[in-house]
Amino acid sequence: MQQTFEKLQKARRQNPFPSLAERKKWLDLLQTLVLENEIAIIEAIDKDFTGRAEFETQLAEIYPSIKAIKHAKKKLSSWMKPEKRPVSIWFKPAAAKIIYQPLGVAGIIVPWNYPLYMALGPLACAIAAGNRVMLKMSEFTPNFSQLFAELVKKYLPADVISVVNGGPDVGAEFSQLPFDHILFTGSSRVGKMVMKAASDNLTPVTLELGGKSPTIIDENFSLALAAEKIMFGKLLNSGQTCLAPDYVFVKAGQEEAFAEACKTAAQKFYPKWNAKEYSAINSSKQFQRQEAMLQDAIDKGAEIVYLNNNQETTDGRKMSPAVVLQTQAEMQIRQEEIFGPVLPIVSYQNFDEVIDYVNDHPRPLALYLFSHNQKRIKRILTETTSGGVTLNDVILHVSQESLPFGGVGNSGMGHYHGYEGFKTFSKAKSVFKQSRLAGTKLMYPPYSKLAKMLYRLMRGR
Ligand code: NAD
Repeated sequence: MQQTFEKLQKARRQNPFPSLAERKKWLDLLQTLVLENEIAIIEAIDKDFTGRAEFETQLAEIYPSIKAIKHAKKKLSSWMKPEKRPVSIWFKPAAAKIIYQPLGVAGIIVPWNYPLYMALGPLACAIAAGNRVMLKMSEFTPNFSQLFAELVKKYLPADVISVVNGGPDVGAEFSQLPFDHILFTGSSRVGKMVMKAASDNLTPVTLELGGKSPTIIDENFSLALAAEKIMFGKLLNSGQTCLAPDYVFVKAGQEEAFAEACKTAAQKFYPKWNAKEYSAINSSKQFQRQEAMLQDAIDKGAEIVYLNNNQETTDGRKMSPAVVLQTQAEMQIRQEEIFGPVLPIVSYQNFDEVIDYVNDHPRPLALYLFSHNQKRIKRILTETTSGGVTLNDVILHVSQESLPFGGVGNSGMGHYHGYEGFKTFSKAKSVFKQSRLAGTKLMYPPYSKLAKMLYRLMRGR
C-alpha cells in the first residue's frame, strides 16, 4: 500500500494540476468501465449478496454512478474556473480570486451495501477535482471488489486510480497513510477509528455514516400513499440502504391501518417476496443481527406483522419484510440502525412529541415527512437537524446532483456529490494580486499623520 501511495504521490508531483481534458478523459474511462461491464458488475454483486435484484443494481448503482460522472463532465469547465472575489476599497486596485487546486492523493473507503456507487460517487468527484485516488473496497463483497480492482487496472492508468482489497486490518493500515483527504463511507463505529487514524497526519476527513433516519406521517396524510412510498424505500436492497426509512412515527390509533397498508404495498411490489426481484441480506452476520433484533423485540413485548403472503419468513438469506408494533424505547430496533427489511412503528399523540423525540436522539442522515401542513413542514425543517430531508417521499434528495450530500453529527461530516464534491476534494486557494498602484505603503512605518488619519477612516465609527 505504501508503495502504491508513493507512486500516486510521484505522479501528482509530475502533473500537479491536470487539465480539463485530462480529467474528462479519466471520467470517460470510468464511464466506459461501467457501461462495458454492466452485466459482470450485476453478476458479481448478485453473487456477493446470494441474490441482489438485477434492476436494483441498475437503478441504485449503475444509473447514479453514470449520472455522477456525466454531471461532473458537463460542469467541470465551470467548476475549474478561478472565482473572482471583491477586494476591499482600501486595497484597490488589487485583485482577489479563488483557484480550486487538486488536494493531491485522496483515499476512499467503501462499504458493502452499494459497492459500485459508494466507490464511484466519491471517485467521480475526486478525479474531477484532479486528484489521484486510492480505494479500499469492502471485504463483504469479495466478488465485486476483486472484479472492480481488475477493471480499474484494465481501464485506468495505474498512477491515477488504484484499488486495494482486504478487511479491517487493511482498512486500519489504509487510513494511516498520509492522504490529502479521506472520504469514508460506513458505520459510525468505524468512522471514529478512521478519523482518529487520520488525525495523526492531520488528514481531513469526510465521513458518510449511517444511523436511524426517522419518517413521520402526519395524521391527515393518506396512509396508503405514505405506506407505498415508505415500502419502496425500505425494501429496496432489503433495507440495506443508509437512507432507508429506519422507523416511522404514526399517529396513535392509526398503527394497525398503517401496517395493513404496508402489507398491501409490499405484496403489490413483491407478489412472491422471496423471488429474484427481492434482494437478500448481504452476509450471515447481518442476517443473524436482523433475527436477533426481531427476537429482542418479541421478548420485550412487540407484535411482529410479517408482510409476506405465506408462512415462511426466511429463505436462505432473504428475510420477509415486517412491521413492528408496540415498540418500546429499550428495544434494540429502537436503538440501533436496522439496515434490513424491518420497520418499527413509534406512536405519537401530538407533533411536539415527534420533534422532541428526533431532537433527543443522534442527528440522522435523513428525515422524511409526509404532510400537507405548511406549518408542520416548516417546523420540521427549522426545528430538527438532519443530513437531508425528502418531503412526501423518501430517499430522493440523494438523487439530485445539484444538492450536497452528507450527514451531520453522528451521521457524518462534510459533503460530496456535484459541485460540493468537487470542492471537498479541492483546496480553495485564496490568491491576492497586488497592483503597481497600491496605496498600502502609506501605512508603512514610521507611521505618519496621514497613516493615522487613514486608520481612523478605515476603522470608522
Ligand atoms: P463498516 O464501517 O463496517 O465498513 C466500511 C468500510 O470500512 C469497509 O471497507 C471496511 O473494511 C472498512 N473498515 C473496517 N474496519 C476498519 C478500520 N478499523 N479502519 C478503516 N477501515 C475499516 O460499514 P459497512 O458495514 O460496510 O456499511 C454499513 C454502514 O455504512 C451503515 O451504517 C450505513 O448506514 C453506512 N452507509 C452510509 C452511507 C452514506 O452515504 N452516508 C452509504 C452507505 C452506507
